[in-house]
Amino acid sequence: MNLETVLLLETVNFAAEKHKTQRRKDPEATPYINHPIGVARILSYEGGITDITVLQAALLHDTVEDTDTSLPELDAVFGATVARIVQEVTDDKALSKQERKQLQVEHAPHCSHQAKLVKLADKLYNLRDLNRCTPSGWTPQRVQEYFTWAVQVVKGLRGTNAALEEKLYQLFKERGIET
Ligand code: NDP
Ligand code: ZN
Repeated sequence: MNLETVLLLETVNFAAEKHKTQRRKDPEATPYINHPIGVARILSYEGGITDITVLQAALLHDTVEDTDTSLPELDAVFGATVARIVQEVTDDKALSKQERKQLQVEHAPHCSHQAKLVKLADKLYNLRDLNRCTPSGWTPQRVQEYFTWAVQVVKGLRGTNAALEEKLYQLFKERGIET
């Protein structure tokens, strides 16, 4: 087995342990780990990404925001590059949801190429999930608002990955959202 395969398995195992008690917001309450695995898979299978640090960051992208994982911990286990990419895609939980959403729009254009890739795949996964089924308690209006916010973020990521952007803009078009 090559080193990258070992590293990917270490990373997916770390993420699975960190997210082990969490569920997604869909009515089936899908295990949370399906999401980071799916985001990494979008990058490799649909985006053609082979940069191992990007795939690792995708697997870990919600660990700091949503579990007890710290950035120094990621730095110690997976190195500075992976930790830095995760930091770039992590919202500041001290801020209100509204402020966090606004900051994602403002920060997107200034992120590293690696972080932009993770952001694109994360949005693509979540929008597909919303198309697949509505989270419990969400109105159609709230789903639509999520799409219109995602448009603002994705517009700031233009020129990052043609395949992923094409799929995102197709979803926006199907929703009737002007881009
Ligand atoms: P949340 O931020 O609460 O939820 C969206 C996030 O949940 C996604 O970014 C995703 O994050 C994660 N997630 C988990 N499961 C799913 C799933 N099945 N499908 C998609 N995403 C999933 O919701 P909002 O984006 O709506 O943010 C809250 C904002 O909405 C606030 O500003 C609040 O004021 C407003 N609001 C609006 C309401 C309305 O009816 N219009 C009602 C209540 C609040 P990740 O990738 O990190 O997993
Ligand atoms: Zn995510």
